[in-house]
Amino acid sequence: MGSEEATLVLIKPDAIARGLAGAVLSRLEQLPLALIGAKVTRVSQRLAEVHYQAMREEPFFNELIQHLRGELHGVAYVLALVYAGPGAVAAVRQAAGATNPEAASPTSLRGALGRMTTTGLMENVLHASSDDREAQREITLWFRPDELLVPLYASKTVEGQTRVWA
Ligand code: ADP
Repeated sequence: MGSEEATLVLIKPDAIARGLAGAVLSRLEQLPLALIGAKVTRVSQRLAEVHYQAMREEPFFNELIQHLRGELHGVAYVLALVYAGPGAVAAVRQAAGATNPEAASPTSLRGALGRMTTTGLMENVLHASSDDREAQREITLWFRPDELLVPLYASKTVEGQTRVWA
């Protein structure tokens, strides 16, 4: 276990609100990767804060959390996806493009579909794990072991039947 490379994608609320989830999925479907986990899920305050814990000192942290929780777009969920295969992290990062959609390649998802709003909000369509370590941290944060088609990381059984990450 732990040998297969995988990455987490979140289709963010700005993309959901603008009807872009299908476009993101279509583009990612073209990559030579396997979709091994997918769900629509609400994002609690805690989940958002732990997901973006590396950004907690940033001046835009509160807005970032509100954004991920859908509070800025009237959207109650994100689409969370796990893709696996050699080079998964880099391939999805490249398809996503640079963080700022105005700076991203126009052929990338963020460059083609993202925008800065007139109020200065960065609507960059999706999250993609930045490296292998973050990918594992994020995948085990967003998914339970039995929600993935492939046993990516070590897990254990608690209370007789529930699988949790070891
Ligand atoms: P990435 O999502 O490309 O990995 P970061 O990890 O640097 O980028 O940032 C996480 C998220 O924080 C970005 O996707 C974006 O939503 C938000 N963000 C990053 N930098 C800024 C900024 N300067 N202003 C507003 N939001 C930002």
